[in-house]
Amino acid sequence: MYKIANTGWIEIITGPMYCGKSEELIRRIRRVKIARQQIKVFKPMIDHRYSKSDVVSHSGASIEAIPIDHPEEILERTDEQIDVIAIDEVNFFPPEIIAICEKMADSGKRVILAGLDRDFRGEPFGAIPELLARADYVEKLQAICVICGNPATRTQRLINGQPATDQDPVIMVGASEFYEARCRKCHRVLKG
Ligand code: ADP
Ligand code: ZN
Repeated sequence: MYKIANTGWIEIITGPMYCGKSEELIRRIRRVKIARQQIKVFKPMIDHRYSKSDVVSHSGASIEAIPIDHPEEILERTDEQIDVIAIDEVNFFPPEIIAICEKMADSGKRVILAGLDRDFRGEPFGAIPELLARADYVEKLQAICVICGNPATRTQRLINGQPATDQDPVIMVGASEFYEARCRKCHRVLKG
């Protein structure tokens, strides 16, 4: 996708954990830099998985990002010189992120988003469902189900090796110690 003058848009990369959202985001960011376009990369402060200030994939690829607490900081830190905005872990941002993405796309910027489509219960996650509807381009990726090897569209949360209950808090940051990629058939949520 090439950036044509004065034409902005929203593109979103989504799917469960381990499906390659961060890898794909990093790939797109690298190409923007090769094209010598001006880019700013943001991520929510909440994701302390591996690095406080980088977008990091589970396979180890990484790229520098600005960690922010509130979506408004994206506007404060972006001027008209910036061609492209990339935001990882968008599911962790409050709904204000939606209007901010629309505003930036309307002002001619390419807005690249990545985030989980569902929480551990399999329910739509945060602002992502509305952003999916508002996006101009959507890419939904699959991981591999660790139980049966089929394409995985869900994120399984495990507490002491057992499926979490539907009463668990939605946000619990972690990686392989709490989460697995699973298909629809193998995904489990216990009744709390
Ligand atoms: P996401 O951002 O969607 O969580 P990442 O880009 O961080 O995904 O990580 C994707 C990488 O995770 C894959 O390239 C692979 O190396 C690794 N991985 C670990 N478990 C799985 C799995 N069950 N299915 C697919 N990839 C996996
Ligand atoms: Zn499965």
